[in-house]
Amino acid sequence: MATERTFSILKPDATKRNLTGAVNAVIEKAGLRIVGQRRIQMSRAQAEKFYEIHKERPFFGELVEFMTSGPVVVQVLEGENAVAKYREVMGATNPANADEGTIRKTFSESVGENTVHGSDSLDNAKAEIAQFFQDSDIAG
Ligand code: ATP
Ligand code: MG
Repeated sequence: MATERTFSILKPDATKRNLTGAVNAVIEKAGLRIVGQRRIQMSRAQAEKFYEIHKERPFFGELVEFMTSGPVVVQVLEGENAVAKYREVMGATNPANADEGTIRKTFSESVGENTVHGSDSLDNAKAEIAQFFQDSDIAG
């Protein structure tokens, strides 16, 4: 296994409910290192670009609305097999289907407001990190 980096977002439901520390504790306990982190307000354009792959889906408008409804925390996570590992730690997209102990099972209230994003492939991780971080901010 290789050391990888993946991209994470703590979504507006996490910042609104003051859960960023609790979610970060789960991330760190799973052995993922937070090597970049910034709290931002996503613009509509940023959210539309980020979720472009879903633009034909019926929930796209709702998703963009939600992602811009409050601050988010964008993160770069590093560790062995980080992309797949973080998907495991997050749990299923719909918290009702997520395993015990996962972030979404523990904290999420609905499929729309599901607390975290994690890249679904190494290529997407690279592109997503590049959308929100300068190389110099996450060097070393
Ligand atoms: P993410 O990309 O945010 O990490 P994911 O990869 O588990 O989540 P995707 O299928 O990529 O799930 O969906 C992107 C996001 O769109 C979901 O996290 C969720 O917030 C929202 N979403 C997905 N399906 C639905 C749905 N049926 N109704 C409302 N929102 C949805
Ligand atoms: Mg996804």
